Amino acid sequence: MKEEVITLTTHYIDGAFVASHGREVMDIIRPADGQVIGTVTLADEDDTRCAIDAARRAFATFSQSTKEDRIEILRRLHAAASAHVDDLTAAMVEEYGGVVQFSGLIVQSGVNAFQAAQQALQEMPLTRSWGKTTVTLEPVGVAGLITAWNANTLFICLKLASAVAAGCTVVIKPSELSALQTRVLIEALHEAKLPKGVLNVVTGRGHVVGAELVRNPHVDKISFTGSVAVGESIMRDGAATMKRITLELGGKSPTILLDDAKFDSAIPIALGIAFMNSGQACAAGTRLLVPRRQLDAAKRAIAVAMRAFRVGDPGDPKIAVGPMVSQKQYERIQSYIRKGIEEGAEVLVGGEGRPEGLQAGYFVKPTVFVNVKNDMTIAREEIFGPVLSVIAYDTEDEAIAIANDSKYGLHAAVIGTDIQRARRVASQLRAGRVVINGMTDDPQAPWGGFKYSGVGREYGRYGIDAFLETRAVLET
Ligand code: NAD
Repeated sequence: MKEEVITLTTHYIDGAFVASHGREVMDIIRPADGQVIGTVTLADEDDTRCAIDAARRAFATFSQSTKEDRIEILRRLHAAASAHVDDLTAAMVEEYGGVVQFSGLIVQSGVNAFQAAQQALQEMPLTRSWGKTTVTLEPVGVAGLITAWNANTLFICLKLASAVAAGCTVVIKPSELSALQTRVLIEALHEAKLPKGVLNVVTGRGHVVGAELVRNPHVDKISFTGSVAVGESIMRDGAATMKRITLELGGKSPTILLDDAKFDSAIPIALGIAFMNSGQACAAGTRLLVPRRQLDAAKRAIAVAMRAFRVGDPGDPKIAVGPMVSQKQYERIQSYIRKGIEEGAEVLVGGEGRPEGLQAGYFVKPTVFVNVKNDMTIAREEIFGPVLSVIAYDTEDEAIAIANDSKYGLHAAVIGTDIQRARRVASQLRAGRVVINGMTDDPQAPWGGFKYSGVGREYGRYGIDAFLETRAVLET
């Protein structure tokens, strides 16, 4: 039976799905087999300006909404998204190739963002006064939300929840590789019956739709998740209209295995952090720092534990690593694996080429390099695929120095038995988030990077803060 091909020709502007003015049609490709499963008509600058105008008009009223109004809107958004968790997960598996177990978690954390924002807003004082002075936190204005493809539902829900909590109206530009997932999400959120123009979504190219959002004087704020290169251009180009800017960028995160760690449990945890979301994760712990005198034991434990990281059909719940999102991403991973070999690192598991039996689609072999030096390309650059570099260290101080010797500072992990010691090590890491003894999350804890990993924070009250301006009114 021939599969139905999806055709997306509209954008979501002023509370309705409207025909695209942009004419470029792009294929939607399923990464698991490289087949075309649909087409999307991409937005142009005109579509983007219509969306900005709608958001601007809506801001006049929505900026005056009370905390209670916004909490009610967040409640409706949560209910609308919650009703479609399975559809959203299925779309992430289909269009992005995310493995089903992980996709379910990512979608759920996106949906939870609306609830977490309600709680954070409830607890945030938006007014302070003393004497004849009153200070209020005001919505910054129209926000352009530009997102990456590796966790589409999460990024959109998280940014939208924070912006709406602050009283901003938004124009969302998802990755052009996430058109289908975005459509499923926006059809769900449409059911929340938001005031017209509060939520607008235009799918299009970065240099077209994204660039218009960045340069348009009627957009006050950009919240961006993506690469350092684009983040730099947004900061530079946004300066011309004095944009407020939040940047969530890349990482090359370290996992420090302390010498009192129990390898049986520690190695699977470390590999889980390295290969989550098939390695296409900004927080992936892609540098594993191991005590030199335990290196041989670590290699043996890694080789055994890697058997659990099976590659294949992302819809199969037993699979841990799915395909890469695109041919471009497949080739990028291959070139880094080649570079690692050329620079003298040793392949312990995986290597170049496709895994056996997976010739269609963008599958790569989950790869672990040993004998890696921290100055090699594979230890310095973000690969954004399932490639782990194991680096040996001699002392705790050296481990900390290697961990911090990176242009990035998004995430880090410490694994060890003595919790006081693990905390001491964690406190010296230059990263926006450090986890101890396993990957965990807290929707009220800030997320964001030191150094090239970004500017600003998301999640909880930190995320809402990023969409607020401070106004003081003083009486004589
Ligand atoms: P990307 O920078 O290529 O694209 C991100 C978004 O920016 C897309 O929507 C794209 O269309 C848009 N864009 C491209 N050019 C633009 C321009 N000139 N102006 C405005 N917008 C433009 O990144 P990607 O390949 O989609 O995502 C992978 C990157 O995202 C990795 O570096 C990863 O680490 C990072 N990331 C960071 C986080 C985080 O929370 N820190 C989360 C996920 C991904």
